[in-house]
Amino acid sequence: AKLSAPNRCWFFNQKIHDELLHQHRLAERLQLALADNELALHYQPQVSAMSGRIENLEALLRWFPKEGGAISPAEFIPVAERSQLIHRIGEWVIREACRQQAEWKRRGLGGARVDINLSGKQLAMANTFKHLEACMAEFDLTPQDIGIELTENVLIEAEEHILNTLRGLYHRGMKIAIDDFGTGYSSLSYLKLFPVTSLKIDRSFVRDAPKDPSDRAIMAAAVFIGHRLGLEVIAEGVENEEQLELVREMKCDLVQGYYFFKPMSAADTTRLLTGLVGG
Ligand code: C2E
Ligand code: CA
Ligand code: CA
Ligand code: CA
Repeated sequence: AKLSAPNRCWFFNQKIHDELLHQHRLAERLQLALADNELALHYQPQVSAMSGRIENLEALLRWFPKEGGAISPAEFIPVAERSQLIHRIGEWVIREACRQQAEWKRRGLGGARVDINLSGKQLAMANTFKHLEACMAEFDLTPQDIGIELTENVLIEAEEHILNTLRGLYHRGMKIAIDDFGTGYSSLSYLKLFPVTSLKIDRSFVRDAPKDPSDRAIMAAAVFIGHRLGLEVIAEGVENEEQLELVREMKCDLVQGYYFFKPMSAADTTRLLTGLVGG
């Protein structure tokens, strides 16, 4: 039977209600997660497209609730963003990435830069950069030891004083990457205004490039403009030989993806780095 309009309306509201409740519960659990040490950083290497050498490690947040399972950052980061929790979580990520990098350096394993993801709300907070500077000082790190990743939309929405802070970091040699390049709503002319050093071509283009000429064209154009602007170009989400071939042909500088490495725990990353140093 056809639902009458009021019923459809009720159904719709019920769905919204359930979703809000779910997010509210998630936010409550996330608040406890921080105190209960359920958060961890995993690391995914970025390798040189030509030599395969590990150049950087992207820090990716993980949540392992005590009751088991794992919740994806794609699910809980947006919840954290809506509930102010992102500030505390973001600060935890920054400090933990710095602490880990300092530990690797102390053990002679510090060759690779550690890149931190910053969300829009984090960027808008002046405190984020004060915290970053404080952590780098606490752990005796240089701007070459840590990099940051921001999306295009976040950069466009950034206020002038934030862009100035970024310019300061840029001039001191910090790597600043535009994440998910090609998926935002920026016009290319913005590129020259942003203090950035790297472009990360979004995984969706890389995934479909072998079969889709349009994706190949967009990738090639991104590499071209990136290089003309003196930026380092990174292809993300490389999962197979075919994609790697293309990315190499297009002269991307760095490659990240399951084909080389999946994100792994700090302990596994330490083992990997130790193996490389040991020869
Ligand atoms: P992102 O920054 O674009 O990170 C890349 C995502 O692609 C990661 O998902 C990574 O595990 C995944 N990935 C890497 N290589 C491959 C591949 O070859 N194939 C496929 N299918 N996927 C690949 P993850 O770790 O689930 O993170 C999802 C998103 O959550 C990130 O996207 C980032 O936007 C956000 N995120 C993660 N950690 C943090 C954090 O510490 N702070 C903030 N603000 N956001 C974070
Ligand atoms: Ca990223
Ligand atoms: Ca990305
Ligand atoms: Ca992404």
